[in-house]
This record gives sequence, C-alpha cells and structure tokens, in this order.
Amino acid sequence: MMAAEAAQAGGFLGRALSSTEPAPALEIGGGCGAVAEARVLVINTGGTIGMVPQPEGLAPEANMLAGALKKIPILHDAAYAEETNLYSRLHLGDDTLVLPISRQNKRIIYTILELSPLLDSSNMTPAEWDKIGSLLEIYYEKYDGFVILHGTDTMAYTASALSFMCENLGKTIVLTGSQVPIYELRNDGRANLLGSLLFAGQFVIPEVCLYFHNKLYRGNRVTKVDAESFNAFSSPNLPSLATAEVDIIINWETVWRANTTKKFAIHKMNFDQHVGLLRIFPGITAEAVKGFLQSPIKGIVLETYGSGNAPNNCPALLEELQKATERGVVILNCTQCLRGSVSLVYETGKTLMDAGVIPGGDMTPEAALTKLAYVLSKPGTLAEKREMVKENLRGEMTVVPIGTQITLKDSKFIQEIAKYLFISCKEELAAVRDALTPPLACAAAKNGDIDALKALQNMGGNLSSEDYDGRTPLHVASCEGNLEIVKHLLKSGATVYAKDRFGATPLLNAIKFRHHDVICLLRTTGAHLSSQELVNVGTELCSLAFNGDVEGLLAWHLAGVDLNHPGYDGSTPYAMARAANRMKVMEFLCQLEA
Ligand code: ASP
Repeated sequence: MMAAEAAQAGGFLGRALSSTEPAPALEIGGGCGAVAEARVLVINTGGTIGMVPQPEGLAPEANMLAGALKKIPILHDAAYAEETNLYSRLHLGDDTLVLPISRQNKRIIYTILELSPLLDSSNMTPAEWDKIGSLLEIYYEKYDGFVILHGTDTMAYTASALSFMCENLGKTIVLTGSQVPIYELRNDGRANLLGSLLFAGQFVIPEVCLYFHNKLYRGNRVTKVDAESFNAFSSPNLPSLATAEVDIIINWETVWRANTTKKFAIHKMNFDQHVGLLRIFPGITAEAVKGFLQSPIKGIVLETYGSGNAPNNCPALLEELQKATERGVVILNCTQCLRGSVSLVYETGKTLMDAGVIPGGDMTPEAALTKLAYVLSKPGTLAEKREMVKENLRGEMTVVPIGTQITLKDSKFIQEIAKYLFISCKEELAAVRDALTPPLACAAAKNGDIDALKALQNMGGNLSSEDYDGRTPLHVASCEGNLEIVKHLLKSGATVYAKDRFGATPLLNAIKFRHHDVICLLRTTGAHLSSQELVNVGTELCSLAFNGDVEGLLAWHLAGVDLNHPGYDGSTPYAMARAANRMKVMEFLCQLEA
C-alpha cells in the first residue's frame, strides 16, 4: 500500500501511515490524566544532518537515521513506547519514534520517510521539489505537521518553492538540517530536529517554515549566510516567526495565513526551468545580457545594486532588457544587498521600470526565482502573470499598506482599559490587547457581531488566538452555526485545525450542533476530523441511529465520516436502526449506500 503511494510520489521509500489504515486512537489514559499525541511525518531528503564520512568526503547514508535516533533518549522515549504498546496500538513500523513528553504535555510521534536516493542538496533539482510536494499531498490529512530534513546549501530555494507550491496551506511544515552530522558528538542536528518536531507537532503555524539554531523563520524569507556557523541562516527583511530559547515564543502577528475557504492543494510546477538569475556587475555588457535573455528563457530575476539600480548610461544594455520584456520575458528586479528593498529613489532604478522590469520589493533572490517559476507555470495570460508576480502571494515580500493604518493608539476601548491599569507604553498596550482578544473575539463570535470582530482585527488582535480552554472564535462560531461569522473568520486566516483542550476541532463542534452548512464550508476549507475525534465515532453513530436522529447522522456524513463504523459491541448503525424500527434512518442509510 505504502509502496504504491510512494511510487506515486516518485521513488520514496519508508513506511508512513497508509491512507487506508485504521485511524489510530490518540488519547492515552494515564494515571495523571490524558496525554495528547500528535503525529508528525519527517521526510528525509538528505543533507549533512544524516551524512557519514566516505572516502571522497561526507555523503548521505540511507536507512540509518531512524535506528540511530532510537538510541538518543531526547529523541525517542522507548519506555513510553513499550508501556503504551505504541507500535501495536497504532500499527507502526520501525521507522516511527516518539519524543519524551513536552512542556505542553504532548507526545509527538514521528515517522521517518526517506527519499531514495538521499541527496546532498547541491544535487537537488525542481524535480525533487515536486516529489516532496507529492508526499505532502498524499499524507496531508494523516499527520498534524511535517518536518523536511534537507541539506543547508539549497534549503532556502526548496523552502521558497514549497511555500508557493503549497496552496491554501493550513498545517505546519518545517524544513531543517544541520551543519554537522547528527552522528557526531558535537552537532547541531539534534537540537534542530527536536525544535522542528516541537513546532510541527504542537502549533498550527500554517506556513512553510525553516528552523535553524533556535529560530523558526518564514521559509521564503531566508538565505544561507554562513557555511561554518551553527547560525547558518538569516531572514534579513522579516523577524523570525518564533524563537525556541528558555521558552518557545511565537510571534503570532507575523504568521502568514492563507485567508481562504479553499482546500489545501499542491501546485505541481513541472517546474518551469526557463527562469534564471542574472547578477549585474560593473562593466557587464549588452551582449552578455542579450545572450542570457535568449529564448527559451521566460523569466529572470535581475539582481541589481542597492535599492534596485542598474547602469542607465549604457543604452544598449537597457535596450536589450526592454526588447526582452516586449517579447514577453518577465524580469523581476531584486537587490544584491542582503537587507532592504527595491524602490524608485534613484533615476537609475526608474530607468529599469521604464524598460518593463517589475520591482521585486524586498524578496530574496531564492524567493523571487521560485515565485517566477511558480507564476509562469500557472495558467493565464502574460498580463495576468505579470500582475501575479507583483502580488504578495505567501508573505514573501513586505507590502507597505496604502492609506492610514489603524494603530493601537486609535483603539479607544483598549486605551480606556489601559487608563484603568495605568499603562501607557506600546508593549504594555499590546500585552493587554493580546490578553483581551481571545475572550472578546469568542464573545463576538457567539453574538454574531462581525463589527466587533473587525474592530479587534483592526487593533491587531489575532482572531485565531485561543482562550484558556484552547477554544478559538471559529470553535464558538461553529457551535453557533453562524455561517457568515465562520466565513469571515476563515477569510481572516482562522485555522480549521485548532484543537481545544478536549481535542475538538471546529468541525466536531459543528457536527455536534448539526450545522450542516457550516460543516460543508469547513470541509471545503480542508477541515477533517482528527484520529482522536474519531475514537468513539462508531458508538456515537449507533446511538444516533437507535434514536432515529437522521439530522445527526447527516452531520457526520457531511463531515466525511463513513456511517458504517461499528459501535463498541460490533453492531452497525444500520443494525441499531433496524432493532429500534427507525424507518427514516434505515431509508437514509440505504440511500447513502445506493
Ligand atoms: N552540502 C550539504 C547539503 O546541502 C550541506 C549541508 O547540508 O549543510 O546537502
């Protein structure tokens, strides 16, 4: 089964959860209460993290990682696996491990799936990006989060490419690797892997991220800046999304969200390889530029000086650029500087724009190149593609808001509270806002008050934030069945994967209250029930059937649940309906079968 799926993705080996395996029970009763288990898929593509010395130098070694990690107590809790019958309970193979319990009281169970062959990332091509994308697509619903082990050399390119390929992403994907192999005594691989697993398994940060040296970055904002330090990556134009030092601190305001009601999908680029990077240098000739821009090239990233400048005293060179844009080549202007943005401060920059070159803001060359390839591989006219390149698709560039921005200072409500609390500095005000947002937003969702929600958003409040029970406004709106509020929250980036302290997602809440339209909308957005939520589903269905509750059964059906699940004693919902002579239920179940 797994082999067939892996073949679909193009030659990956290993054993992950098959899409037809029974959903595992995820809540473990222990002496000190239930422990939530999360499942993470680790896709090992290669890189230094899993390399061993060979006669010609370091190279990746296949089928070694899981066995080696099992011997490292911080990366595998063998006692827990045994005490809870982990392997037989969840039908797991040797390539699955479990972390010791986290501070957040979670157990992260992770399965390692290996690319074959494992690669030094210098050997990776867009074909591998598509393979990784296929695996993410196949296993998206089976795991709570994903970690991709990757060489550092081209990690920024893969992270950027995946960020565009993952459309309407709702789960956490973290790329990581290391500068020193994990098998060596002193290495950065263990900490990088552990941190990535903790983020992927415990938090819904719906982005393609890159974790390195205690920092979680947006993947399409990073660039490799150091070949020798453990601190190898930099995100020059965007602060990190999170830091994992004494505490894990997530900068929720920076987290990019898809703001959509569409389902997750991978856009296979069949990567358009007719794109390239051209770095301007003093003395570059018009002939060199002309040669580079020849057909079949379709798009280039022009790496210019400073804030987007190129010589404007060489008409022949500018003419070549202009001719290319007129032929339909998309040219994106990015700066050679590590930090900063392309702007129109200088005449030399303006000249490029006049030649049809598109300003690329503060995108890294890695992001700009993969964005070009992504956009060029989408359907549409050239004009539409030129427009799409200018848009901020995945938070890859900073967009300066037009018009006046509402700041915390404009928020009368928060200011009044601040007065009572005698606080005035910006940081304290933000802290008050963050403390108040969850209950206020939940109350607004309960009352169907869209204006209050908008006001909280304008203050910078995060509408995905959880209250003390882990409940989000989307949970509340789903219980209430207020479709408009649910829509608004989803379009504001609320996540359908949030779980409250009882492990319930908004979808389960909508099922419980039989809000069929909300269930359908949540499903369109990619919501699915977690394994934990499905533990007693058969018994629940039997009880609904016995009581003649067609509406309740329909709710589970709309949520994608098979209504043939047997109850605890093995009887099916249909048998229960027959026993209680519930004709309507029997008819309904028969219709579904037909
Ligand atoms: N050459 C290695 C790679 O990119 C470097 C590393 O992983 O750090 O695969």
